[in-house]
Amino acid sequence: MTKLRILEFPDPRLRTKAAPVEVVDDALRALIDDMFETMYAAPGIGLAATQVDVHKRLLVADVSAEKTDPHVLINPRILEKDGVAVTEEGCLSVPGYYEEVERANHIRVAFLDRDGKETEMEAEGLLAVCIQHEMDHLEGKLFVDYLSEAKRSRIRKRLERDRRQQAVSVA
Ligand code: ZN
Repeated sequence: MTKLRILEFPDPRLRTKAAPVEVVDDALRALIDDMFETMYAAPGIGLAATQVDVHKRLLVADVSAEKTDPHVLINPRILEKDGVAVTEEGCLSVPGYYEEVERANHIRVAFLDRDGKETEMEAEGLLAVCIQHEMDHLEGKLFVDYLSEAKRSRIRKRLERDRRQQAVSVA
């Protein structure tokens, strides 16, 4: 398995709309394994293929404390959503920033599993929020898009400054 590089805001590649997965094969399963390794190492609770610069409709998630509840959703589609959850969200592509975002608290979602089989699941609370956050990535959307323009541009400037400083310190 390989740890993949995670794109960071405001990288324009994060704005790409992902294309449906046509074939679920060993190459895709290898990518899924790499995405889990990358997510667990970060550490994070979810990762969309978009974040590792692969523009396919695929996400992985595991919100359990023991990292024992991995989910793979290929071509996910929300069938139902209800309730309201306001959660302080972070994102591996926006490191160091956490802000409250409002989403549905309960979802029913259809997707292909890692064998390419059509399946459905219900999710609540943190898992539901996580899946909605990752599905946004597949549309080229980030959690900072729910914040005010002023807040988003402050985060962008600080991240750009941090990156410039890192570049100077390794030069
Ligand atoms: Zn994210």
